[in-house]
This record gives sequence, C-alpha cells and structure tokens, in this order.
Amino acid sequence: NGFASLGLSEAVLRAVDDMGYRIPTPIQAQAIPVVLMGRDVLGTAQTGTGKTASFTLPLLDILSGSRARARMPRSLILEPTRELALQVAENFLLYGKYLKLTHALLIGGESLSDQKDVLMRGVDVLIATPGRLLDLFERGGILLTDTRILVIDEADRMLDMGFIPDVERIVSLLPANRQTLFFSATMAPEIRRLADAFLQNPREIAV
Ligand code: AMP
Repeated sequence: NGFASLGLSEAVLRAVDDMGYRIPTPIQAQAIPVVLMGRDVLGTAQTGTGKTASFTLPLLDILSGSRARARMPRSLILEPTRELALQVAENFLLYGKYLKLTHALLIGGESLSDQKDVLMRGVDVLIATPGRLLDLFERGGILLTDTRILVIDEADRMLDMGFIPDVERIVSLLPANRQTLFFSATMAPEIRRLADAFLQNPREIAV
C-alpha cells in the first residue's frame, strides 16, 4: 500500500486499507508527513483532491498518542457549512475506527444544550461551524485554551460567506503555541493575509 511510507500508525493504515485506498493523492503524499512532524501547512487544494484525509489521517495519529484530560477539545476543525462538517465527522469515524478517540459536532440545527453536555466531557476533535462555536463560547459553554491543533478548511468559502471575522475571533481564543493547518481552493490576497496571520513558518503545498 502506497500509504505505508508516510509515517502513519498501523491502526490508521488499516482503516485506510479498509476504505480501499491504495495510492495517496498528491495532497496526501505531501501533507501527511509534514503534519506528522508537527509543522503548519498552507494547502491550496480543491474538494475532490483527497484534502480531507490529508489532514484527518495525521490528526488522528497525533491525537492517538495521548489522551484527553481537560474538559476541552484538543483539536478543532472549522468548516464553513453544516454539510461539510458532517462529512468530516463521517471521515473521522471511518478513518478512526481502530482508535478510541472522541469527537463532537457543533453545527446549527442541533440542541445547544446537548452539544454542551458532550463537550463538557472533553473531546479529542471538535468539528464546528464558526457561528455556532462562537455562540456556545459566548454562553460560557466552551474553552479553547488547550486546543493545540487547529484546522481551517475551505477558507475561501469562509471568506465568501462572511465568516472571516468569526474565524479571527475564534483563532484569538486558541493558544499561540499550536499547530495550524489551513486549506483553501484559491489563494486570493485576503486569504493569503489570513494565512500569514494564523500560520507559523508553514509548508506550502499546492495541488
Ligand atoms: P475530498 O477531496 O477529501 O473531499 O475527497 C474526495 C473523495 O476521494 C472522497 O470520497 C474520498 O473518500 C476519496 N479519496 C480520498 N483519498 C483517496 C485515495 N487516496 N484513494 C482513493 N480515494 C480517495
């Protein structure tokens, strides 16, 4: 299997194999080893390139190395829409089937009190849309001071939908000492400015 040389653990490789993936896509081949090293990534990639697995697989691997202790999310994946958030959660379950990691979804249309209960138990991965996450934050339902891995997915869509102020606010709630993975289909000047503000010495990958 072409994934074997990327540095992923046995449990993740087995899940990838179960999915029938044999060859990593270009974004996966380039991003996975870099993420596993702990580096920031600035990825220019469209949907359909295998982008989701390029951050989900190494994220699972990093998180499986230690356990959640605090009642806070250890990692945060920001998605512009509810549908994308649901897709990422599905991927997380499929790729993480041999790991005992927890996740929570924070998206519109679900009871905020239910979502708050889940979060108070502490999760390895929180998958959220920006507005909903800030909503819960304002109500004192969540802290992000120990969230050390951040994924911002589809940044260009966040921009189109007017979510950038929310995203900036959320990023300001996370520790400066963190790993950030930033993906966008395009690298417009406004997106580039954000990437410069959020990332530290990122590896740039364009596919
Ligand atoms: P994404 O770009 O993340 O939305 O992924 C697009 C589609 O490609 C999804 O349906 C994945 O299940 C599939 N996929 C991702 N990586 C691979 C791979 N290495 N080999 C075959 N299919 C893949």
